Amino acid sequence: MTDKKAVNPSEEESRKVAEDSRQATWEKPSFMRELFLGNFRFDLIDQYPLVRQQRAEFQEFYDGLVAFIQTKVDPIEIDATGEYPDEVINGLRKMGAFGMKIPKKYGGLGFTNLEYQKVMELMGSVDGNLSALLSAHQSIGVPQPLKLFGSDELKEKYLPRCAKGEISAFALTEDNVGSDPARLTTTYALSDDGKHYVLNGEKLWCTNGTIAKLLVVMAIDTSGKKISAFVVEMGWKGVKVEHRCHFMGLRALANAVISFKEVKIPVENLIGREGRGLKIALTTLNDGRLSIPNGSVGTAKACLRICREWASTREQWGKPVGKHEAIAHKISDMAAVTFAMESMAKLATAMADRGDTDIRLEAAAAKEWISCRTWEIVDETMQIRGGRGYETEASLVARGEEPIGVERMMRDYRINKIFEGSSEIMHLIMAREAVDKHLEVAGSIIDPKKNINEKVAALPAISAFYASWYPTRWLGWGRWPRYQEYGSLAGHLGFVERNCRRLSRQVFHGMMVHQAKLQHKQGFLFRLVDVGNELFAMASSISRAHAMRQAGDANAAEAMELADLFCRMARRKIKQLFRDLWFNDDFLKYRRALAVLDGRYRFLEEGTLDAIGDAQPATQPGPQAVPDAPAKEKAKEKKGPVGVAARGTVEATS
Ligand SMILES: Cc1cc2nc3c(=O)[nH]c(=O)nc-3n(C[C@H](O)[C@H](O)[C@H](O)COP(=O)(O)OP(=O)(O)OC[C@H]3O[C@@H](n4cnc5c(N)ncnc54)[C@H](O)[C@@H]3O)c2cc1C
Repeated sequence: MTDKKAVNPSEEESRKVAEDSRQATWEKPSFMRELFLGNFRFDLIDQYPLVRQQRAEFQEFYDGLVAFIQTKVDPIEIDATGEYPDEVINGLRKMGAFGMKIPKKYGGLGFTNLEYQKVMELMGSVDGNLSALLSAHQSIGVPQPLKLFGSDELKEKYLPRCAKGEISAFALTEDNVGSDPARLTTTYALSDDGKHYVLNGEKLWCTNGTIAKLLVVMAIDTSGKKISAFVVEMGWKGVKVEHRCHFMGLRALANAVISFKEVKIPVENLIGREGRGLKIALTTLNDGRLSIPNGSVGTAKACLRICREWASTREQWGKPVGKHEAIAHKISDMAAVTFAMESMAKLATAMADRGDTDIRLEAAAAKEWISCRTWEIVDETMQIRGGRGYETEASLVARGEEPIGVERMMRDYRINKIFEGSSEIMHLIMAREAVDKHLEVAGSIIDPKKNINEKVAALPAISAFYASWYPTRWLGWGRWPRYQEYGSLAGHLGFVERNCRRLSRQVFHGMMVHQAKLQHKQGFLFRLVDVGNELFAMASSISRAHAMRQAGDANAAEAMELADLFCRMARRKIKQLFRDLWFNDDFLKYRRALAVLDGRYRFLEEGTLDAIGDAQPATQPGPQAVPDAPAKEKAKEKKGPVGVAARGTVEATS
């Protein structure tokens, strides 16, 4: 692998890069931005997308895919071999699955977001490897940024190839660039004749990288000022797969470290304009991010089915385990949360199709909230299945039991809280937007870099805004008997309205109390975001249950019951979050964390093998006898022999 240059920007420089690449304007209304400002714009989400009948063309594809999965896809085998069978990839190619989101004029299937995400939901219930293959290709790989920002020539050149099944990948991450793009070291420079850019560097963890023909690569110009995005072909001279990465789950993931040595990229392969690369990556992720929540809904539904079947038949202590209260509570939570998750994911997806609102916050909320809830559901499913949850499918089958793959599901699912923007980064993105209006209006007052004259000059505009905004955040009709048409959910809707104003007041109070330090108060900010996400989940559930009732849906009564239970649970959580904003151990915990990092509590690590090794004299044989070895070398030596990987095998419930 290539030598890596170290770039060590300060926290402030990293923030500046993130700030410069953020979409600063809001051209369309945003439900969640308004929520943080105390304006409950239910009208923006109260057109729940009940799809009663799919388009015939989509239904035909979907039915074909289901039949293909049932006959040709064996998730247990994919997991055991750690490879995608050629037959599966070719079969998906043949049915056009790599061109689902590509417009028909470029040879794709031209599906809507809702249709595409219905496929992702199905995949999420079958096999995480296949979800990642399809999603890395078309949610974040070449088709998506080209559709949004590519020139007509680039679209003509590459979209038909992608639609036919030339697999693509998205390459942003590097050894030192995870959540912080300011550390980018893959560089590009324009050649002397101006005909091409020359690319050098190395990318880490490119999903699909070992089987891709095309990449979207983010690189920084050699002066270190402009991050740009390019379409790069894997077949070009200087592009090399250095290593295939392997993980805890998603064992077939074709994930690679890819190096670039003096790679010549034709100038026309620049996507959008120079310097817009990060913005392109982030905007791509707005819609792209919806694949994880929709896939997660599929996973959660599969869990619910497993739990229903197991907990109603497995008897212990004289009755089915699902009838013992502890397990019953888990199951009802699971059902209510799955209802809310599906409501939120479909709503955000339909909003992306409608195109009349800005969904960047809803997509981030759906990614964060749904991936965390699904992880909890997978965890509880393992608990409800007991020892069988922990056992591999192969072992279950060998003993004559049904191969139910909770163990594989758990290994495969966990990454969803990390990739395509970790849960923490989703919180940060949302927190930044939650305070955006206040920074715009009153930023100069809390900015320590502004002098007193600048602060005084800003006062009239600040007073004018807050004189009307702040008092009206206390007044409202949330307790007035309204929303009667929402039946038993009317009270919950009133709660959302009142608490959206309360949320906006707390955002404002936080700014006033913490001022410029607020950006470091992640405990405070993340709780505000969590309140926003719970309110969005409540509003989505109510919108859906109401729409089902209005449409005379056969399951409307059940939907109302689940929405009611979910709202009750969310209200309790929200009340607790508000309390914790001001009464918490945040300061103390931060201090203690610093002490942990400084090694003050190392006595707690005593008795572990590594700690015993630390205490050994440097002359002792063994990995710790190399005090000066670079961290990576040490890590290599410490690893020791790698055991045979556990062969997880579980049948997906499709
Ligand atoms: C299986 C897999 C597939 C992947 N596929 C791709 C791909 O196709 N293309 C691609 O470009 N990348 C890909 N990635 C990379 C993935 O997106 C990153 O792992 C992710 O962005 C997090 O980066 P990191 O792992 O370096 O964590 P780091 O950025 O080092 O962060 C470590 C921890 O600190 C937290 N953290 C970081 N900064 C902050 C902060 N300011 N405040 C609070 N918490 C913070 C993070 O949330 C995380 O919990 C993949 C990774 C994996 C494991």
